[in-house]
Amino acid sequence: MLASSELISLVKAYDPNANENLLKKAYIFAMEAHGMQRRASGAPYFYHPVEVANILVKLHLDVPTIATGLLHDVLEDTNTSPEELEEIFGVEIATLVKGITKISKNELLLPKVRNTENFIRFLGAMAGDVRVLIVKLADRLQNVRTLNYFFSEEKRKRIALETLEIYSPLAERIGLNDIKDEMEDLAFFNLHPNEYHIINQKLMSICSKDDDFIQNTILELKILFNEAGIQTEILGRKKSPYSIWKKMQKRNISFEQINDVIAFRVIVERIEQCYQVLGVIHTNFPIIPGRFKDYISIPKLNNYRSLHTMVIGPRKQPIEVQIRTKDMDEVATRGIAAHWSYKNNKLVNIEGSWMGNILTVMQNSKKTEEAKNNPDAVMKDLKLGMFSDEVFCFTPTGELISLPKGSTAVDFAYWVHTDIGNSCAGVRINNKIMPLRTVLRNGDQVDIITSPYKNPEPEWEKFVITGKAKSSIRKFIRSKEETEFRALGFQLVQYVFASLGVVFNEESIDLKKADNTSLEEFYYAVGKGEISMDEVELLISDNGDNSENNKNTKNDLNSERGESGESKQERDFEIFLINFTPGIAIHFADCCHPILNDKIVGKFEPQKGLIIHVANCSELNWKRRSLIRVRWNLDDSPDSDFTTQLRIVTENETGGFATVANTINQNGGRITNLKVENRSNDFFEMVVDVKVSDMSQLGNVQAALRTAPHVKSVRRLRQKT
Ligand code: MN
Repeated sequence: MLASSELISLVKAYDPNANENLLKKAYIFAMEAHGMQRRASGAPYFYHPVEVANILVKLHLDVPTIATGLLHDVLEDTNTSPEELEEIFGVEIATLVKGITKISKNELLLPKVRNTENFIRFLGAMAGDVRVLIVKLADRLQNVRTLNYFFSEEKRKRIALETLEIYSPLAERIGLNDIKDEMEDLAFFNLHPNEYHIINQKLMSICSKDDDFIQNTILELKILFNEAGIQTEILGRKKSPYSIWKKMQKRNISFEQINDVIAFRVIVERIEQCYQVLGVIHTNFPIIPGRFKDYISIPKLNNYRSLHTMVIGPRKQPIEVQIRTKDMDEVATRGIAAHWSYKNNKLVNIEGSWMGNILTVMQNSKKTEEAKNNPDAVMKDLKLGMFSDEVFCFTPTGELISLPKGSTAVDFAYWVHTDIGNSCAGVRINNKIMPLRTVLRNGDQVDIITSPYKNPEPEWEKFVITGKAKSSIRKFIRSKEETEFRALGFQLVQYVFASLGVVFNEESIDLKKADNTSLEEFYYAVGKGEISMDEVELLISDNGDNSENNKNTKNDLNSERGESGESKQERDFEIFLINFTPGIAIHFADCCHPILNDKIVGKFEPQKGLIIHVANCSELNWKRRSLIRVRWNLDDSPDSDFTTQLRIVTENETGGFATVANTINQNGGRITNLKVENRSNDFFEMVVDVKVSDMSQLGNVQAALRTAPHVKSVRRLRQKT
């Protein structure tokens, strides 16, 4: 394990102005925080963060990142609090460590995730700072390096598989190719130990047998390049066991059939020399067709640039040659970190918002193929997509889905399925019941509660942001609107019949006079208020079948009206609230907030429909005609919600608010709004909007509040406040 002085001198080698004290402080803090903790290997836990820091040092990262490597597990595994960390190490480091901790928590969900591509992008969106991703990768690498200490084979294989599916692709995307290669080999070793050993042995034997092969090839190449007057540095190395195995799997071939197990890398100073070297190779050795790639003209999305070619080499054996400049080589091994340089004692990234670029690279990685054909289009994408516009959430089965940023629970429901959206009644986010309009955050676990009685509400359209949710809601409302206004019109017409004392008979309606071709059309027009109830009265002829038996003419009716102006027949007919979705043809008044089983009346407003008030609402003026008798339907949906308002007075004591909130919650009510109206030394007076399912639940809430400590009075409001 590195001592703190060794770590510091390694950092100083590439960053002479590095803050030594900060590094030393982080080193000691982590050592003390982890104390006697041990790893599965039995080694002190502290070895792990030091090794992580060491990996980061090799990438030449800045001091805050190295310190984060040392401290990355203190929030999760020790008693250290985020506040303490911030006080001692400042906001930057504390934020980085918090970022790692957040990712580690979400890693617990990994075993259930099937959409690994989404998880990789999720990590990018959640990290917020690319350094968080790099530390996480270093952490993961150190963990797979020590995987063999785990006794459970199942656990070993699971971690290895995760590494292969999530972390090595992530490393590749941010260009950390060395880390990617090492992760893959370690994962391969743990997943398929036999295959690993066989391939590794064959590789070893080739190298020992042909030890001269590599050296001689380098020498002969060097002579050719010198003759052409190009300064080069040449490296020869065997390919990784995993990459060989992958090739064997993909092409279904044996080890012996793979001819390019050894690759040579030629490093030069300038770009034009890359092409000169290529020219020398292609004139001196037979080319193997189809293996030339120019990643200099068209870099990979992770910014990897290099020329690749394959020829029959000086020893009459196929060899792969990679040609690149020093800078390109730097990027190929250190990825994103290579784009930083030290200026004024601070790590700056040369190309602006790296994080933005990274997220874009992640989002666009699927388009790699496209990129080869149409690099311009991808460049445009890179510029437009500087910021992540996605949010990632988990379904109850652990599936990770991606939605546009700003999506709500209702958007989520419609994303899953139109039927789920159309019947969503509530949502549990991270196991807590939340309003459907809640905007989702990265990593939220979302569980939609559906009910066969629930329908989309018009107000949803105001807060959803996805096209699918918007159009589904609109479509539903439109079809619903027609049926509801028609149903309302149908009942209003019956109401008029009753008020005339005539038995309802559709044949007595003079459709021609109403300019309507069908009854459906007529009822809709009445429901909409395009034909008023007074006009309906004039359309009813006395020639219907039942008119003979119902000689209650208008005159008779008038004479029968008492002081109240009500007739017996009117009292008999009531509009039933059956199958109506509030907000379309039926609305609940926001002055008195009626709830299920209240005594109610309706006030008809053209274009809007029927507004339902509590019978004794003080906003209503009791002019006859405009008020219509309404009754709840007895089998009204059990899952409906009604909002009502309570004025509550409590003592001005600590705990007063909490008592009110808890009491309402415990009795099944849900607070949707709270407003403090008066606040004196002794009392708090507040108006609370509470969602309940019916009168009996409201009764429970009120009764419980009245006996709760601190609560002085509770009153249901029936007028606007
Ligand atoms: Mn760790």
